[in-house]
Amino acid sequence: MQEDCIFCKIVAGEIPSRTVYEDDNVFAFLDVNPLAPGHTLVIPKEHYERVAELPAELSASVFSAVSSLTPRIESAVDADATTIGINNGPEAGQEVPHVHAHIIPRFEGDGGGP
Ligand code: 5GP
Ligand code: ZN
Repeated sequence: MQEDCIFCKIVAGEIPSRTVYEDDNVFAFLDVNPLAPGHTLVIPKEHYERVAELPAELSASVFSAVSSLTPRIESAVDADATTIGINNGPEAGQEVPHVHAHIIPRFEGDGGGP
């Protein structure tokens, strides 16, 4: 655990969050400032800053959780599609330096998009 990391504190239960999914290696929770209803963040429980730092098995676990959660989130909020994205480094817009995949439900005509 990285002491000053918000997402490590969320994994440890020191900061409350709305849990969407959890297993031994992966945690998923609702974004506190959602771009759409159901906007979910999927993170490795262990602290890594950038995608390339993740051990291959953990990377696979995160992506597998993203894959299986996506249709469940879509049906929960009746979305038509999903934007899945990772801001990898501060210059790309990564504000929290703990790897996280965004699952953002999309609706026909919502006019959004990265
Ligand atoms: P980034 O810009 O790093 O890709 O995305 C960080 C995301 O984390 C943002 O969408 C932001 O709303 C979310 N976030 C930041 N702090 C918290 C928090 O304390 N709790 C939750 N649930 N989400 C957070
Ligand atoms: Zn962390």
